[in-house]
Amino acid sequence: MHTSNILNGHSILVVGSSEGIGREAALTYARAGAKLMILARNTSALEQLKRQIIAEGLCSPRIFQFDLESKNEDDYRQLAQHVEAESHTLDGALLNASLLGARTTLADYPWDTWQQVMQVNVNAQFLLVKHLLPLLQRSSTDASLILTTSSVGRQGRAEWGAYSVSKFATEALMQICAQELGENSPVRINCINPGGTRTAMRAAAYPEEDPSSVRTPADIMDLYLHLMSPESSDVRGQSIDAQNWNRQKA
Ligand code: NDP
Repeated sequence: MHTSNILNGHSILVVGSSEGIGREAALTYARAGAKLMILARNTSALEQLKRQIIAEGLCSPRIFQFDLESKNEDDYRQLAQHVEAESHTLDGALLNASLLGARTTLADYPWDTWQQVMQVNVNAQFLLVKHLLPLLQRSSTDASLILTTSSVGRQGRAEWGAYSVSKFATEALMQICAQELGENSPVRINCINPGGTRTAMRAAAYPEEDPSSVRTPADIMDLYLHLMSPESSDVRGQSIDAQNWNRQKA
């Protein structure tokens, strides 16, 4: 468990925080002193997370129930306005939500699933970056925007279809945004590749795998905390693996 107050006073939004890695990241940021906003579709899971955070004597997170798949650009604009109303500025955002889609060949890939994955993993990420950046740029600290990639976003792999293509797009979105922001921007953007991690998505991708053979979300939080915190203010435009990452090597 992280006990330092390295994010004290930071307003942080975690998109896709009802379960898995995003939930653990939200807890990690709250334990490091952040004021949290949590977003997903499953309100009861978000309420449960909120109760846990309050029970630990941390902040009282603001819940946003928001379906990344079904919204149009105006909804994203409004979401940013709600975030602004909640916290005036934004000091960090972790864009963690994704869909796995189908694990099948391109020949068999269902078109509706393809579009669904692209909507959540690509289009929604673009709209979040577009509408959250102005808030991050008003932060009085060095704000951090983190996107979530995958090893299949760097090297295509058979039967990973839309998910793999969407993660290549995530890497490109991060690189384009980092170049546009430039070296002197107060906002930095980076990608994290969590690597194989014990979650519902991992179990769906590898049903034959023994879940105890892969790391838990808690095991990979060092990089999530480092990249969100002022410790990493000079890290920009990078795509970094969370597995085996260690602060000493940073
Ligand atoms: P999970 O499937 O366990 O969690 C995904 C999260 O995204 C949930 O909180 C879910 O909330 C949210 N989400 C999904 N669809 C939507 C939507 N339409 N609108 C709003 N929120 C949505 O995933 P993981 O924790 O395993 O993965 C987290 C990230 O890490 C993903 O980007 C994934 O691609 C990446 N990753 C994971 C790996 C792994 O081994 N686990 C390996 C490499 C990368 P809800 O259902 O409540 O909406």
